Amino acid sequence: MKDAQITARVAGVRDDIVTLRLETDEQGQFYPLIKNEVVYICPTRTPADGRQEYLQAEVLRVRHGEADVQVFENTRGVAIGDPVRQSGQMLSVTLGPGLLGQVYDGLQNPLEIIASQHGFFLPRGLQVEGIDSQKQWAFQPGVKVGARLKAGDPVGHVQEGRFKHKIMVPFNQMGEVEITWIQEATFTVDTPVARIRDHRGKEHELTMQQRWPVRIPVCQPLLAQRFSERCYPEQPLLTSIRLIDTFFPVAKGGTACIPGPFGAGKTVLQSLISRFSDVDIVVIVACGERAGEVVETITEFPALPDPKGGTLMDRTIIICNTSSMPVAAREASIYTGITLSEYYRQMGYNVLVIADSTSRWAQAMRETSGRLEEIPGEEAFPAYLDSSVRTLYERAGLIRNNEGEYGSLTLIGTVSPAGGNFEEPVTQSTLRTVKTFLGLSADRAYKRAYPAVDPLISWSRYLDQLSNWYGENLGEGWVKDVKQMHQLLVQGEDVQQMMQVTGEEGVTLDDFLTYNRAQCLDQVYLQQDAFDDVDASTSMQRQQTFFKLLKRCLYEHPHLDDKDKTREHFTRLTGLFRNLNYSREGSPDFKRYWNEIHQLNHFPLPVATETDSQ
Ligand code: ADP
Ligand code: MG
Repeated sequence: MKDAQITARVAGVRDDIVTLRLETDEQGQFYPLIKNEVVYICPTRTPADGRQEYLQAEVLRVRHGEADVQVFENTRGVAIGDPVRQSGQMLSVTLGPGLLGQVYDGLQNPLEIIASQHGFFLPRGLQVEGIDSQKQWAFQPGVKVGARLKAGDPVGHVQEGRFKHKIMVPFNQMGEVEITWIQEATFTVDTPVARIRDHRGKEHELTMQQRWPVRIPVCQPLLAQRFSERCYPEQPLLTSIRLIDTFFPVAKGGTACIPGPFGAGKTVLQSLISRFSDVDIVVIVACGERAGEVVETITEFPALPDPKGGTLMDRTIIICNTSSMPVAAREASIYTGITLSEYYRQMGYNVLVIADSTSRWAQAMRETSGRLEEIPGEEAFPAYLDSSVRTLYERAGLIRNNEGEYGSLTLIGTVSPAGGNFEEPVTQSTLRTVKTFLGLSADRAYKRAYPAVDPLISWSRYLDQLSNWYGENLGEGWVKDVKQMHQLLVQGEDVQQMMQVTGEEGVTLDDFLTYNRAQCLDQVYLQQDAFDDVDASTSMQRQQTFFKLLKRCLYEHPHLDDKDKTREHFTRLTGLFRNLNYSREGSPDFKRYWNEIHQLNHFPLPVATETDSQ
């Protein structure tokens, strides 16, 4: 970038939006500058140490002879006439082995290296390599000289922790290429490992890393040329959270949104999902939350034990932007996270992206749009908010890669609407796009009914969409039973509303029963204790067993002839079921509570209980 040509000069500065005047070439033509290209502003006023700064910026808008760019840095001291150098590249990240376990800022600068070399914040105008160029990887070739390959085909692999990391032909490579040389040895990521001859006969060297523009899906060229294929999600992402897996499931390769007011439990719910879901890799985009919270994420998360062995950080990438970092970098961070995820999906892995919170991302977009003086839409968000949200969530999905393996990218975003008002534009745009809506309620959080997802406003389109999977794996009646139990929650709420007006005496025994059934279902099944070793995660198989037993208990109990007996019965049932939730399968406690639940309901006890045989 230092020797790149000067093709424009600063003509105006407004916070982080800088207007450029394009220079002309010998023919008197303006140098071409394209939207989303990266340029470097080189302030003539240098800092005290005399170092030349290069402020990274992205082109937002080009007009005749002029361009507006957003700067990913503080623009203090940038002056009219300062030279601007063109990179010729879009905003890009480096893809290759060594991404897992990293904590990056929104522009893929590794925060740990910054912290050790420069204190916590990166000095302005410095960039650090996204992948450690010193570290060596043992490259195993997977093809021989003469092999004919296309973009996205693997040429070999390295072992990255517990993952086989495929080294693939660059995704933007056109046509068929031939391997003319390949070597097996231990190298750094920037050492050539193979040479290819392209369809024009030109030779290129391949290293283990490649650059990719964050605003373009990694799979786009591969899908366009039909090397890879987009498929319909067919399986649920099992989170081990009962309320999600049973009532409001998310598909592997699907989308979900978790809106909720401040303090309702969005962050806790997301960290539970990222910890227990049956995915290979988790990418967390901590987008513009308060610096304190983000520091918490960075320091606490890596140490958490992974239910699959090792630590969680071994299979996690964290992208971190606090609200104190520049707006433009915050807006970019979500794309950076998604691009890294798509890279691992292309290798055939199941990746989960957690974006917390997308409201901060949308607000960054709003600030930028305001500074560009674009015509504002609702609540001053840009008119293209809807399409930006859609484009973002469309990057989720299930892909069949070049080798016929399946990889998925599931995207779960939180939204933090001011005052918990779901009518605001970001929540509304998101709800129009995603297929699962887990609405957190301040009321439930206040009652400590965690996870504080309100079952009466939440929904999932995947319950029907994945009905084949449920039929095959959980029995034909599953979806119908779940809907029936959901209906019970709705009816229970109706009775509760009535009782608030008339008191217990004002409702019939039947209604009172409904209310008690719904309360019990809520307390023992929807609510789940995140801080208990056993209850924190419930396997789908355990969910199925418990759901069936609970449903039976709610409808096949002994005759209860008055309200007192009803209340008493359900209080006991709730207590026993809660204890069952806390008991490990096969333990003496488990057997005891299991039997007591059967006795309470006069159910015959099977000789060997269902769980004994598991
Ligand atoms: P948000 O991100 O929505 O602002 P948090 O996820 O930080 O809210 O949750 C706020 C607090 O609520 C947590 O610090 C915790 O004390 C409590 N909390 C949230 N979810 C749970 C849960 N599942 N179990 C127990 N406590 C929870
Ligand atoms: Mg939070």
